[in-house]
Amino acid sequence: MLDVLLRILRTGQLTEPLPDADNTSPASSILQKNLLGILGRALCIRHVDAGSCNGCELEIQALNNPYYNLEGEGIRFVASPRHADLLLVTGPVSVNMEEALKRTYDAIPDPKMVIAVGDCAACGGIFGTSYASRGGVANILPVNYTVTGCPPSPTDILRGILNTVRATSARNEISNTVRYSS
Ligand code: SF4
Repeated sequence: MLDVLLRILRTGQLTEPLPDADNTSPASSILQKNLLGILGRALCIRHVDAGSCNGCELEIQALNNPYYNLEGEGIRFVASPRHADLLLVTGPVSVNMEEALKRTYDAIPDPKMVIAVGDCAACGGIFGTSYASRGGVANILPVNYTVTGCPPSPTDILRGILNTVRATSARNEISNTVRYSS
């Protein structure tokens, strides 16, 4: 418990300060425009908390506030994995959530993307691996991108989403070129 309190004190506030009145284009807005430029349509995200302390969830929730305005830019969280393009996983994978996480992944239509958000999802973080924890998400699922931080800031999460979509889109273009030219 003391470890967690010390970590909270060390980490401080991650949310970006309000922009100046004459700065109407914060970094997050530029990232969102890039994302839509690549996709050209809405991006649907299914989030799974695989055993997090809820710190990463607070930063993910911030993406939907009026400042980051994710939904306003056409990027939204969905309840069903069958409607999702991207799986966002937080926390170390607890043994209790392992099967649910695998089923959620299987239910997402191809081509699917997976992002591990936070140090716990990256490598197990302060929870590590134990009788109750499988550690990082990559121990269970193929991960396209990892956003480190405890917790990562909303802008870092947004940047991770953008980089993942960009890389997947480039890969699909290459495979389509190969398919159509052969
Ligand atoms: S990375 Fe930090 S904030 Fe996120 S779930 Fe782990 S301990 Fe909590």
